[in-house]
Amino acid sequence: MKLTNRSKVVSNKKMTLGEKIYLPAIAQGMAITLKHAFKKNEATYQYPEQVKPRAKVWRGHHVLKRDEEGRERCTACGLCAVACPAEAITMTAAERTKDEKHLYREEKYAEIYEINMLRCIFCGMCEEACPKSAIYLTDRLVDAENNRTSFIYGKDKLVEDINNRIDISDRQTEKQKNAVK
Ligand code: SF4
Ligand code: SF4
Repeated sequence: MKLTNRSKVVSNKKMTLGEKIYLPAIAQGMAITLKHAFKKNEATYQYPEQVKPRAKVWRGHHVLKRDEEGRERCTACGLCAVACPAEAITMTAAERTKDEKHLYREEKYAEIYEINMLRCIFCGMCEEACPKSAIYLTDRLVDAENNRTSFIYGKDKLVEDINNRIDISDRQTEKQKNAVK
């Protein structure tokens, strides 16, 4: 086959042995690797000892809020479940008895309330749909688990601990703050 002028120039160029076995390229790559290995990287967080700061409105797992008297706000109306695009929320409603007035704010309450955290996409639609300011997403992370059923969070994990209240005021809009007194 006839070689063009350009092909002749390339084929005539003598490569050294080092170039042939890519030594310069390997050395260059290693130099970059070592430079980064010993460089102090400010962007790396040593999790879990060091936790990356999150925005106030960051959406982690939910809390079912209590009112100022410690009663559960949720009335099991089901609006959050209807609004949920992932169909992650299920509940069973029950009637409050006379003796339970100190436990539940309204006559109806959620006897069972569950969120499947594997389905949840943390969109916040349940929070927006709730007319009782009962459900909020918090900055808490969903724990790692090694079986699927542990990701179904019931009231034991969702209802606010009466002795360890969660301040969600930063997340509330003015409308939400004034919605339920
Ligand atoms: S955050 Fe979104 S996906 Fe998760 S339970 Fe609420 S509405 Fe459903
Ligand atoms: S959390 Fe709110 S929207 Fe959902 S059932 Fe309870 S009161 Fe209704």
